[in-house]
Amino acid sequence: MTDLINLTLTEMQAGLANGDFSSRELVQAALKRIESSDAKTHAFLHLAKESALKQAEESDRQRKTDKRQPLLGIPIAIKDVLSVESLPCTAGSKILEGYVPPFTATSVKKLIEAGVVIIGKTNTDEFAMGSSTENSAYGVTHNPWDLMRVPGGSSGGSAAAVAARYVPAALGTDTGGSVRQPASLCGVTGLKTTYGRVSRYGLIAFGSSLDTVGAFGRTAEDVAQIFSVMAGRDEKDATSADAPVPQIKFGGDALRGLKIGVPKEYFIGGIQPEVEEKTRAAIAQLKSLGAEIREISLPHTEYALPVYYIIAPAEASANLARFDGVRYGPRADADNLWDVFFKTRGGKFGPEVTRRVMIGTYALSAGYYDAYYGQAQKVRTLIKRDFEAAFGDVDLIAAPTAPETAFKIGEHVNDPLAMYLEDVFTLPANLAGVPGISFNCGFDNNNLPVGLQLIAPHFREDLLLHAAHAYQQVTDWHKRSPKF
Ligand code: GLN
Repeated sequence: MTDLINLTLTEMQAGLANGDFSSRELVQAALKRIESSDAKTHAFLHLAKESALKQAEESDRQRKTDKRQPLLGIPIAIKDVLSVESLPCTAGSKILEGYVPPFTATSVKKLIEAGVVIIGKTNTDEFAMGSSTENSAYGVTHNPWDLMRVPGGSSGGSAAAVAARYVPAALGTDTGGSVRQPASLCGVTGLKTTYGRVSRYGLIAFGSSLDTVGAFGRTAEDVAQIFSVMAGRDEKDATSADAPVPQIKFGGDALRGLKIGVPKEYFIGGIQPEVEEKTRAAIAQLKSLGAEIREISLPHTEYALPVYYIIAPAEASANLARFDGVRYGPRADADNLWDVFFKTRGGKFGPEVTRRVMIGTYALSAGYYDAYYGQAQKVRTLIKRDFEAAFGDVDLIAAPTAPETAFKIGEHVNDPLAMYLEDVFTLPANLAGVPGISFNCGFDNNNLPVGLQLIAPHFREDLLLHAAHAYQQVTDWHKRSPKF
């Protein structure tokens, strides 16, 4: 029975359809594995044991009828920034301790309608601000490849849950790299969708012009299934796009004739040598599969980090104003309203969130707005144009996902800049709104996974998934599993 947890989503689907096992058996196996091992990894903040078993039984009943949804009975996990009715939602923050949303995020709702079973909510940096899950108010998640190391972040719980074989797939969010970077550090496949591709309704907002909902799985094939279900226009999110959603059919020579650009600005000093070596080897492999490789330039890349760290905190400071102790979560005891605000926010927000609210408020304040936020928006446009120009010449861009493999817990906590540098290669895609994917392309000398990132033009997730799938057909990095 323990073998069930080693199946990919696609294999689970086949087994369920064949009657080899039931969804109840799958869910029981997942829960058993989580209960026996998650004390070591801490990928979950909340396990939805009872409701998961109920949903599994219901899906087994459903299977006997004609109405069989595509993901019927498949267990998945949800990052704890996405609202699921009746399950706690903390966003990794003490300010939302005990909060249970009365509604479900559209992305999750569509998956439920497609038949999934929700196993639980996964750990995240507080309000998705971070690159290691060390900013979670509920304790760090440990990387299944090396328990002394971080899983990346902010969707580190979801990435670790897939790497540890707790669930075949999980949802994450990517505002500056939070799906791709943990996918890279945990050796799984993670898709950041185009801005507007998946509804943000029910997602606790961080940076509203940057936030995207994405998915983790072990293979591109599995991620594609989650993606096709979640994507699409939602009238509850005015920024969701009315673009046709591709049903991705794999097969054929996906890479033949595809032009892939390798930006010279992404192979800079300071990047871990094995990361460069493995990503270059993966790019060579894409070439051997028929892709044409060219060096390209994205000249404004170096400004992405400072621009992001103005825009994201500015938007966060506005979005987080709603957490005042009145509308959600716990309320500090005080004699007057101002003190309720001060004490609740001052006592419940962690240091990184506080730092971002302060930076963001400063950048938006009268007299500084033009110098910071206004200027950052202009440079953001230049970064967007870099991608537009590049995609005039190439179909995809290939680069490392993160400058280094999983770092030790505590290694960067006292150095916010070192932590922010984790995102240098992922932030530009968020600023431009384009989709990206990260998948395992080898291991460093410490047996830690290295991720290759591919970036595509707006709404071309299909290209990313096809390319990653083609690579996974001829390599087996994605089949390795951590022993812990
Ligand atoms: N690490 C980045 C940050 O801290 C990105 C986070 C994210 O994508 N949610 O803002």
